[in-house]
Amino acid sequence: MSTKMKRKVKIKKKNMAIFITFIIVFAFAIYEIGYVIVKVITTSKEPKVEEKVKEKKTIKKKEPKKELSDYGEKLNKLDNINKEINYFREENIDRYIKYKEENPEIGTIQIIKDVNMNLDLTPYDDKIKAINLDTETILVNKYYYLDDNYIPDNLERIKSQYALSGMKLVDYAKDAFENMAKAAAKEDLNIVAMSTYRSYNYQVNLYKRYAREDGTEKADTYSGRPGHSEHQTGLAVDVYNQKETYTNFEKTDEFDWMQEHAHEYGFILRFPKDKVRETGYIYESWHYRYVGKEIAKYIKENNISLEEYIATH
Ligand SMILES: [Zn+2]
Repeated sequence: MSTKMKRKVKIKKKNMAIFITFIIVFAFAIYEIGYVIVKVITTSKEPKVEEKVKEKKTIKKKEPKKELSDYGEKLNKLDNINKEINYFREENIDRYIKYKEENPEIGTIQIIKDVNMNLDLTPYDDKIKAINLDTETILVNKYYYLDDNYIPDNLERIKSQYALSGMKLVDYAKDAFENMAKAAAKEDLNIVAMSTYRSYNYQVNLYKRYAREDGTEKADTYSGRPGHSEHQTGLAVDVYNQKETYTNFEKTDEFDWMQEHAHEYGFILRFPKDKVRETGYIYESWHYRYVGKEIAKYIKENNISLEEYIATH
C-alpha cells in the first residue's frame, strides 16, 4: 500500500468515526426528544390520582341529576299540576301517570283527586287500613277498613227520646246528635236514631243476610262488608221520623230540616245522590256522619263528599 493510499484509508477511518459518532449523538438526541414527547402526551392523557378522584365525584353528582330529570319528566306528563295544587302527593306520582294514561278524557286535577281517593284501585281487593283512627275524620269505605277488634273509645247511649233503645255513638257525636234532635223537636220534628254504632260481628251477620237476600253485587251497593262499615266508627247514624220507613226519609219534613241544619251540629249527609262515584254507595237520605262543625260546613258549602275532602286536604 502506498503512503497516499494509507493516508486515504486513514481519512476514511476518521470520517467513518465522525459519522458513527454523529449517528450515535443523533440517535440519542432523537431518543431523548421522543422520550420527552411521549412523556408529555402520556401525562396529559393519564390524569393524576387527584383528577381521577374528581372525575368519580362528578360522576356521582350526575346520578341524582338524572333522577331529578326523570321526576321532571313525570311532572311534565302531569302538566306540572303539582305547582297549582297543594294536595299533589309525590308518593302517588306513578299511579297518577298510569291512571291518566288509562283515562285520557279525565282532566289532570281530577286525576289527582281520583287517585288520592283510590279510585284507580279495586274496592275490597286493594285493602288499606282505615286512616285518622279515633278522630272526627276517620275514613272507612270500600278501600279503607277497620280491624275486627276495633271498637271506638267512649261510646255512650243516646237519650231515649231521640233514639231506639241501646243506640250508642262516640261521646262527642252523641252530644251533637242530641242537640240536633232537640233543636228539631222545638219545631215539632222527630229525628230518631235507629242504627248507630255496630260492631264488626254485628256487621258480619247483617251483610250475610243482605247478600243472601239480594246477592253480593246488590248488597255491596248499600251495605258495607264487615270492617268496611262506617257504623263501626261510632260516628255514623241512620235516622227516621217514626212515621215513614227510613228508606222514605227523603220525603219527610225532618229530612228537609236536616238538609238545612245538620252541618250546624257537625253532621253531613254521607252518601249524597251525586256522589256515588266517590263514596261507592247509592244515595242514602237517612245515613249521617259526624265530622265536626267546621268540616261539615266546608263539605256542605263546597258540595263535596268526605272522600273528596280528605283527598284534597
Ligand atoms: Zn247507615
